[in-house]
Order: sequence, then C-alpha cells, then structure tokens
Amino acid sequence: MIGTEPDNIPDDLFRVLFEKSPGSLLIKADAPRFTIAAVSDGYLKTTLLPREEVLGKGFFDIYRANVDIDPSDDIAARKVFAYLMRTREKVDVPVFRYDIFEPGAGHKTPHYWSFSNIPILDSQQRVAYILGTFTDITAEVKAKEAAQESEHRLLLAAEATGMAFWELSLADNTFSYSQHMAGIFGHSPGTSITLADVRVQLHPDDMENIVIKAFDQALIDGSYFYEVRIYWPNGSLHWIRTKGTVQYNKNKEPVRMLGTVVDITESKSDEIRKNDFIAMASHELKTPLTSLKAYLQLMETKLSGTTDPFVKTAVVKSGNQVNKMTALIHGFLDLSRLEPGKLKLVHTTFDINALIEEVLTESRILSNTHSLRFNSSGTLNISADRAKIGQVISNLVNNAIKYSAKGSYVILKCEAKGDNVVVSVTDEGIGIKPKDQEKIFQRFYRAEEEESKHISGFGIGLYLSSEIIQRHKGKIWVESREGEGSTFYFSLPVGV
Ligand code: ADP
Repeated sequence: MIGTEPDNIPDDLFRVLFEKSPGSLLIKADAPRFTIAAVSDGYLKTTLLPREEVLGKGFFDIYRANVDIDPSDDIAARKVFAYLMRTREKVDVPVFRYDIFEPGAGHKTPHYWSFSNIPILDSQQRVAYILGTFTDITAEVKAKEAAQESEHRLLLAAEATGMAFWELSLADNTFSYSQHMAGIFGHSPGTSITLADVRVQLHPDDMENIVIKAFDQALIDGSYFYEVRIYWPNGSLHWIRTKGTVQYNKNKEPVRMLGTVVDITESKSDEIRKNDFIAMASHELKTPLTSLKAYLQLMETKLSGTTDPFVKTAVVKSGNQVNKMTALIHGFLDLSRLEPGKLKLVHTTFDINALIEEVLTESRILSNTHSLRFNSSGTLNISADRAKIGQVISNLVNNAIKYSAKGSYVILKCEAKGDNVVVSVTDEGIGIKPKDQEKIFQRFYRAEEEESKHISGFGIGLYLSSEIIQRHKGKIWVESREGEGSTFYFSLPVGV
C-alpha cells in the first residue's frame, strides 16, 4: 500500500519506483477534482507532456483529449471513478481509444489502451487514491481488426459463391455456421438451425448410406466429403456438397470438425439428366442387340452344315462383336446406376477362385488371342457381390487383352493376405505412364497414346471397377512400366 492517510505522500524510494513503472498515474480520490499525485515517466513519454504540467492537476484537466472522438468518453471515465469510489473494487477498462501525438508526426494517431484502476484504501477503508495503469495495446487491436477484416472478406467472398461455413464441436455437439447456411437448407435468412434440424432434413437413405459412414471415416482419416440430398421445409428436394476436416488436440483426439457446404442442385440435376439419358439410350440399344444376337445364334445353327469357311467365321465374328457391344452397353447402364443408393450390393459367400476360372472360361470363348493363365489355390471363400466382382475381374482381363499384343500372356493370381484377398491381373502390354496411372480410375479417362489410339473404349471400365471395389471397402491399384506391361490389383475383405 502506498500511504495510509489521504495526505501521506509516498516516500522517495516509492516515488522513484513509481515513476519508472510503465504508464501509471496515482490519483487522489478528492472527487470531483481527482488530483494527480504522481505520474510515471512512461505516461509522460506517451502523452508528450512535461511532469510539471501533469502533477497536481485535476485528472479531468489532463484527460480530455478523447472527447472529440467520443463525447461520452469523459462521462464514461467519470463513471469508472464513481463506481470505484462507491464499490471500492478494481475497475478494468479492457480497450479504449485515446489518440496521441506520435513523436515526429505533427498530428495525433489512433491508439488503443487497456486501463486498470485499483483503489487504494486508507485505515478507515475509504478510497484514498486510485492507481491507474495504462498499457498500449494498439498493435494487438490492429492485428485483431486486420484478422476480423480478412475473415469478413473471406466470408463475403464465400457467401457470394453460395458457400456456407460450419463448425461442429465433438465434445458437446455445438454446431455453429455462417449466415448462408439457413438459405442452403431452405430457411429464410437469419433463421437459427440446429444440428438436429439439419439431420432431419437429410434424405433418410443418404443419411444411412453416406453421412454416417462419412462421419465415421472422417474420424479415421481426418477429412470429410459427401454429396447428399436434403428436403427443404417446402418439400422440395435439393443436393448439397459438404467438405471438411477434423481438428485434433495434443493427444491426437478429434475435437472439432469444420468445413464448407454448397448447394449443387443445379449441376447435380444436369448430371442426373445425363445419366438418365445414358440409361435410357443404353436400354433402347439393348433390345435390337438382343434380337440381333438371337438371329446370329439361329444362323450359326442353320449353317452348321456349311462348308464355306468365310460364312462360318463371319457368323462367329459377328456374334463376338455383338457380345462386345452388349458388354459396353451394360457398362453404360451400370454407370447410370452409380448414383448414391442406386448401386446396391447383394452379398453372398462364394469361392473367388471358382469365379476367376468362370470369367476366364468366358473370356476364352470371346477371344482366344492370348494365353490366359491362372493357378487356383483351391477354395477361397469370401463374402461379396458375386456378379459385381465377376464384372471387375472381367474388366481387368478384357483390358489386359485389349492393351497387349496377340499371343502374349495374361496371368491371374489370387492370394489370401490376412483378412483380405488380393487378386492381380498381369499383362505384357503397352503399359501405362506414371502420370496416367493416377487418373485411369476416373470416369471417362483414357490415356492418349499412339499405341492405344485405335483401341476402342469409353474410359468407364476402371471407373466402374473402382467404385465397385470401394463400395466393398476394398482397394484397387496398378503397377506398370511403359512398354513392359501392367499389373492391376484389387484387394477385398474376406468378410466371412
Ligand atoms: P477403356 O479401356 O474403355 O478406355 P477403362 O476404364 O477400362 O476404359 O481404362 C481406362 C484407360 O486405362 C484406358 O483407356 C487405357 O488407357 C488404360 N488402361 C486400362 N487397362 C490397361 C492395361 N492393361 N494396359 C494399358 N493401359 C490400360
């Protein structure tokens, strides 16, 4: 405590210590004058005032500069002192603006301060002095303002593109979001929505098949992405795309998820229309092909006695071409079924080695240009969609044949590895450049090579295969060297 009686002036040592302290004023509690009893060098340096102009003056004779910025400021300061006198409690003013002359600059510049007022009591517990300390927090305030400004700009830019931000605390499920969120979910701007509201609006199939799985997966791999259907309160159906990341604490526990959400109804409707068109066109093409195939089979039977080698091979070749076309059309039909919830897997337990043999037998019938090899290791049961996995193996074998020279080997292997089976198809063909290896699993992607220019295809076989494998929670990948050949692998959980 400095001084016990109102008139007790701090002794010399205290005075020196006080004067060296940063931005401090010792103010006598002689309201309404509030005489300044001591002032630190820091305060004088900041205000550019000499000590004699401050010492002994009333606080409000010195402190008046801010009134031109905020006329209520003078009253606010008086209120702080009045409150302190009445309650005898410390009063902090965390941020206030008080402009000062910058040394060198001929004018005042905005400055921000944090101001703490401590009552100093005498022996009768009356307020004798007020110790005021100022800290210059201009840099912090400006940094905060800049951060807020850039956050605001980011928000504006994001909302201009129709994007909303969201944040979910995993500890207590607190859900916060930017303004645009309400609009994306079909509410009028400013409506407050909860996580439960959002969940109710999600299409039940997508909630079960996509959202819950994506959420669990995000906790494992740290990122969040899905496109799902939602119902607006007016009953209309919309599509949204959500992307996000998971944040972890020091113990690597997930604490928060944050991300963006956009309405993609328009582009999705376009995509759906295109898919519907493909589905319809493929379906229409299938009917004449089926009858063409039937006629060819009839012709083959009728011509069984003919000795004309040309006619015989022409019918067989025509049959093969019809089969090829049927396979392509099936590919398109499957593609259009890849919408969420549309590609349904029917799991059964079956021997994957037997399935590989079956696919190879079929391929040999369709074309006997290559040596297809497979050494079955006996029965290897897995639980999966048999027809779909057959389709994947068939795609890989057909590609191996398509992209390699006649007479070369295509070797299949199937091994159990832990809880998985790994199937591989190796060819001695043209190979795939490293830059294409990452992309060939994308829809409609085809490597542009001189060697494969004449080989027909639509770039959907591997896309379909990878979708099928992923939906089985498996993996598909390729190892390849240009000019030497490729090995495609897929692994599947045994699941039995
Ligand atoms: P498509 O064969 O109908 O073009 P896919 O999706 O099956 O479509 O394959 C995509 C692309 O990957 C092919 O266009 C080809 O460039 C490349 N590719 C696939 N399999 C092989 C292979 N065994 N050898 C070399 N390139 C291949």
